[in-house]
Amino acid sequence: MAIEVKDAVVIGGGFAGLSAGVALAELGLRVAVIEGKPALGGRAYSFVDSETGDFVDNGQHVLMGCYRETLDFLGKIGTRDKLIVHRNLEIEMLDGPHRRATLRTAALPGPLHMSAALVRYAHLSIGERMKVIAGGARLMFIRRFERERLAQMTVAEVMQALGQGEQARRCFWYPIAIATLNEDPQLASAELLAEVLKRAFFSRRIDSAFVYSRVGLSDLYCDAARNFIERRGGIVTCRAIAEEVEVGASGAVSAVRLREGDRLRAANFIAAVPPQQLLRLMPEGAISDRYFSRIGSLHSSPIICAHVWLDREVTNAAFVGFIGTTTQWLFNKRRIFERHGERHPGYLSFVISGARGLADRSSDELLAIIMNDLRAMIPAAREASVLKAIVLKEKHATMAPDPESVRNRPSTATPIRNLFLAGDWVRTNLPATIESAVMSGRMAADAVGARVAA
Ligand SMILES: Cc1cc2nc3c(=O)[nH]c(=O)nc-3n(C[C@H](O)[C@H](O)[C@H](O)COP(=O)(O)OP(=O)(O)OC[C@H]3O[C@@H](n4cnc5c(N)ncnc54)[C@H](O)[C@@H]3O)c2cc1C
Repeated sequence: MAIEVKDAVVIGGGFAGLSAGVALAELGLRVAVIEGKPALGGRAYSFVDSETGDFVDNGQHVLMGCYRETLDFLGKIGTRDKLIVHRNLEIEMLDGPHRRATLRTAALPGPLHMSAALVRYAHLSIGERMKVIAGGARLMFIRRFERERLAQMTVAEVMQALGQGEQARRCFWYPIAIATLNEDPQLASAELLAEVLKRAFFSRRIDSAFVYSRVGLSDLYCDAARNFIERRGGIVTCRAIAEEVEVGASGAVSAVRLREGDRLRAANFIAAVPPQQLLRLMPEGAISDRYFSRIGSLHSSPIICAHVWLDREVTNAAFVGFIGTTTQWLFNKRRIFERHGERHPGYLSFVISGARGLADRSSDELLAIIMNDLRAMIPAAREASVLKAIVLKEKHATMAPDPESVRNRPSTATPIRNLFLAGDWVRTNLPATIESAVMSGRMAADAVGARVAA
């Protein structure tokens, strides 16, 4: 059956697809968002664990004050109040059980707030702190005036060029780079790191603050975005798997064929799916085009996340960075989730980003590594027992941000005039994050809006 959707069909119901759908609905356009899975949310979803009744995110997600597009999107759909927005950056970093230092920004205008945080950062000697501040400033200079050079470099190479020593890399640069780029610094693009630093640390004070959801991730945006779109006459449907993007004789997309056989016809199409899924949707003739063949060269990088219920609370902090262990971050759900703290005070989440060497390990092995790291870093955990654990391995968590992949990221507009791309991996100049996904969706909607208006 052919179903007519007037203005646009969006394939994919993650942050990017929903951001596109919301922006199109806001423009007054008729849109259908189709999602193949039974629920919206893509790579940022949550579920309720039947045994504990707790919300479990597929992976702990952290936003930052500089996520302006995401904050706007959540404001529009009316869920911004479900975020905890810290006024300042304040991260406790552990380099062993008795070596703790806090990166705490000062009440000063940016970027002085960040310099003040570094001046007091006790994991580095005074000389190292000064070098980090000078290195950051120099990196901003290179970003501005030597962009071409930066685009060829990895994070490790740029750190070498900036004269950053072993301790500064270990305790400051690499934890930030791995968390924000989800990649080994030997591989990750220096250009993307510079972009993150510019937006987060060399901007307003609020831009560097951590922001996270006080509810399960799906509750943060999925239903609210759906309601926003449907109230404006749009459609949001799950279990609607796109099988093929059909390109007609005119060279434009004529319809999206669903697995059950229905065809969705519209004037415009936005594909908001990951790269490999996009290539599977495109007709053979189209993917020989250089634009699409470059997409085939993009790789992904894994993230491992473990959710552990201990029989007691072992830290008061909401989150803690671990230095020198496989496990990188601990999040204390008691301090983060608004409703569940009292019942399960020992509910913790752990994150290992850029987890290339670990994604094929068994869940038991990974849990053993994480618990060893926890006990090594937080002595109070040595007495605690594990009541329950869930280990989630996202093998294709995000696009691998090496310099070559960054160059091969596609633009929003495709060679097909009424087909546009969205997704965290599309060229936004940001790492593959929620902010990139939301921005890409808004950019694709703007492109459709311009086409409709022309
Ligand atoms: C464990 C983990 C931790 C992360 N941590 C952070 C973090 O701390 N901060 C941060 O900013 N970002 C983080 N990210 C990245 C963030 O989750 C992603 O950038 C974002 O969710 C990507 O959204 P998207 O809409 O671009 O893609 P997706 O979420 O992948 O959405 C694509 C959607 O398209 C659907 N789809 C695919 N093919 C079809 C088809 N043929 N028909 C219909 N539908 C289809 C999929 O089912 C999916 O729902 C993390 C990611 C993971 C996995």
